[in-house]
Amino acid sequence: MIIGKSKRELEKMRAAGQLAGLVLQELRKLVGVGVTTFEIDRAAEKMITDAGALPTFKGYHGFPYSICASVNEQVVHGFPSDYKLKDGDIFSIDCGATLEGFVGDTATTVPVGAVSDEVLQLVRVAEECLERAIQECRPGRHLGDIGAAVQQHAEGHDYSIVRDYVGHGIGRRMHEDPQIPNYGKPGQGPKIKAGYVFAVEPMINLGTHHTKVLADGWTVVTLDGKPSAHVEHTIAITEEGPEVLTKVASGKPSEAVFAGST
Ligand code: MG
Ligand code: MG
Repeated sequence: MIIGKSKRELEKMRAAGQLAGLVLQELRKLVGVGVTTFEIDRAAEKMITDAGALPTFKGYHGFPYSICASVNEQVVHGFPSDYKLKDGDIFSIDCGATLEGFVGDTATTVPVGAVSDEVLQLVRVAEECLERAIQECRPGRHLGDIGAAVQQHAEGHDYSIVRDYVGHGIGRRMHEDPQIPNYGKPGQGPKIKAGYVFAVEPMINLGTHHTKVLADGWTVVTLDGKPSAHVEHTIAITEEGPEVLTKVASGKPSEAVFAGST
């Protein structure tokens, strides 16, 4: 069952989303050659807890960290570690914050140092896929329109789409109905209504779409070892169209978001 949100609930989701978005924006600035992914995790946890929120991922089905840190061929759910980011890596940071009982969920893939044009384009197309998917998050469209938008754009660039992991509804819980695949047929699936909130998260691979899980039980990697890009926003469907709750308006001072969230 897809849970619609009231105006009041949407307000809370906006605050949670803005916090998650701001944390991610700050984390992006910390990424660089020689930085460990665990340092990014520590920074995320501090920012989230300082803002009076909880790192949603920590303890979620036993996940031990505050962010998912997925480098290169790691698709999603990577463990932060003492791995030092190096020149040419791409680093996916996935971050969730629970504020006053509501969750914001957002991810970005950050190029580290000088990344090859081939891989930079993969990241760019993943971002474009998300933008296109967001434009389908309107009342009257169907769930299949979201997946179709991602699929058409990614496959148009000869990339493959991860099928084993999908986006999701979001609210008081991080994962609510419906599942939101990054593939689909226009006009198919449930009708999208105002009040729904979706976490849309394209996972786009340079090579095969097949994945496997490493021995840690969490880290998802591409089967062929080629890079994967992952981006995500939490989006509220309103009568006026999509409102991207985890997008921080450019020029908005960090202090404003943090102040508004305490
Ligand atoms: Mg996420
Ligand atoms: Mg998600």
